[in-house]
Amino acid sequence: MAQEKIFFECQRCGYCCHGETTVSLDPADVERLVAHLGRPLEEVMARYLRQTKAVIQMQTVDGHCIFYNQGCTVHPGRPWRCAQWPLHPSILTDHANFLAIKGSCPGLARGMDYEEFCGWLAALLDQPSAGGERG
Ligand code: SF4
Ligand code: SF4
Repeated sequence: MAQEKIFFECQRCGYCCHGETTVSLDPADVERLVAHLGRPLEEVMARYLRQTKAVIQMQTVDGHCIFYNQGCTVHPGRPWRCAQWPLHPSILTDHANFLAIKGSCPGLARGMDYEEFCGWLAALLDQPSAGGERG
């Protein structure tokens, strides 16, 4: 029997929230997070974020993002890069990116090959479907 095709269905494995670094936050991300937490900027920076030169990331605890606890605890206030994951536009132009992201996200492109997945992603992002280059 053919495997069911699933474009993306989060498995809530938490892999994308684990590691010793996190995505970086832009100013709008910081503003959204501050509003979501309802705490002063200074407190949010000190308790939850870390800044290295111009790069702001979330702190990590025990090898995962400080906001991870069997799921994202700040979901509406999470950074845009978290919201975008794993549907990254670079997949459309780089097969190697597709393989790398698929390899770290078990919810992505199940039962779909690269070209078919790119067709779906391009439609979602309203971009041309390249899907031709293979890594
Ligand atoms: S790695 Fe993929 S499947 Fe796992 S929690 Fe993150 S988005 Fe969901
Ligand atoms: S903000 Fe939420 S989605 Fe982003 S890494 Fe932290 S726990 Fe995961």
